[in-house]
Amino acid sequence: AFDVLVIGGGPAGAAASIYSARKGIRTGIAAQRFGGQVLDTMSIENFISVTETEGPKLVRAMEEHVREYDIDVMNLQTASRLVPATEQGGLHTVEFESGASLKAKTVILSTGARWREMNVPGEQEYRTRGVAYCPHCDGPLYKGKDVAVIGGGNSGVEAAIDLAGLVKHVTLLEFADTLRADEVLQKKLKSLPNVTVIKSAMTTEVVGDGSKVTGLIYQDRNTEESHTVNLDGIFVQIGLLPNTEWLKDSVALSKHGEIEIDARCATNIPGVFAAGDVTTVPYKQIVIAMGEGSKASLSAFDHIIRS
Ligand code: FAD
Repeated sequence: AFDVLVIGGGPAGAAASIYSARKGIRTGIAAQRFGGQVLDTMSIENFISVTETEGPKLVRAMEEHVREYDIDVMNLQTASRLVPATEQGGLHTVEFESGASLKAKTVILSTGARWREMNVPGEQEYRTRGVAYCPHCDGPLYKGKDVAVIGGGNSGVEAAIDLAGLVKHVTLLEFADTLRADEVLQKKLKSLPNVTVIKSAMTTEVVGDGSKVTGLIYQDRNTEESHTVNLDGIFVQIGLLPNTEWLKDSVALSKHGEIEIDARCATNIPGVFAAGDVTTVPYKQIVIAMGEGSKASLSAFDHIIRS
C-alpha cells in the first residue's frame, strides 16, 4: 500500500507528490491526464519567477520534476470511487474505471475543475484567441480593448469590475432579467463609467475573422431580436465545475460541489486531504494550487507520523 496516494496530476497533485516523496515515504500519483488545466493554457504570465511560459512547457517541467523522485506515476487512470478506511489507522481504497484499485494510508484528492462553457458556435474555435475564462490570467492581454463578460453572478460581476480597470470597455451579458451577484458588487459595477450591462441576453455565437475574436451575437430574450457587439475578447464566467462527481457519496462537499477543507487541507475523513481547484479554497490559480498541494502533503505526513 502507498503511504500517500495522490489523485489528479495538475499543479496541486504534482506538488503534493513531490513533497511526499521528499519525506522518503511511498508515494503514488494517478491522473486522468497529467498536467490538468495547464495543458490547455497558452500563455502563462503569473507563475512567479517565470516571466512568461506556455502551458505544455510548464507541464513538461512539472513532469520532469516529479520523475526526479521515486514516485509511482500512473497516467491515464480515472478514479471512480473512494472507499474510506472503516477503522482508524486503516487503509483507504481508490477504485478506477479500469477496474484496478489502490490502497493507501492517506489520500490527497486534487482532481481540479473545469470551466462551464457556453456551447455556442465559435467558442471552441476561438478559445485562447479571444475566448477566455480567467480574468486574473488573461485580463492584462486586453488592455485598452473592448471585452464582454458572460454571466452576471458573483464571478461575472467581479470579473467585469476587475476588467473595467484594465480594458477600454466591458459589456456584461446576463441570461436572466436580473443580475445574481451580491448587492455590493452590483453597486460597484453600476458606478463604473465604462461598463454596459445587458440583461435577458442569450449569447448565440462567437464571431471572428479566422484568427481571432471580433465580436459576439446575442439574442434579446424579450424581443427575440439578434444583436451584434464588436469586441476583442469574451470572458465566460458561468461557473467552474469541480471534478467531484466520483466523490459524492464519500467526502463532504460544499453546495457548489467543492471538497470542503480546513486550513490544513483536511477533509471530513481522517487521512483524506484535498488540494487545489477541486476544493473550497478561494481563488483558483496555478501558484495557489501548488501551494495547496504542498500543504496537503505536509498534513498527510503529519497524519502518518501521528498514527
Ligand atoms: P487541474 O489543473 O484541473 O488538474 C486536475 C487533475 O486531476 C488533472 O490531471 C486531471 O486529469 C485529473 N483528474 C480529474 N478527474 C480525475 C479522476 N476522476 N481521476 C483521476 N484524475 C482525475 N492559472 C494561472 O495561475 N495562470 C494562468 O495563466 C492560467 N490560465 C488558465 C487558462 C485556462 C484556459 C484554464 C482552463 C485555466 C487557467 N488557469 C491559470 C487556472 C489553472 O490552470 C488552475 O488553477 C490549476 O491548473 C489548478 O490546478 P489543480 O491541480 O487543482 O487542478
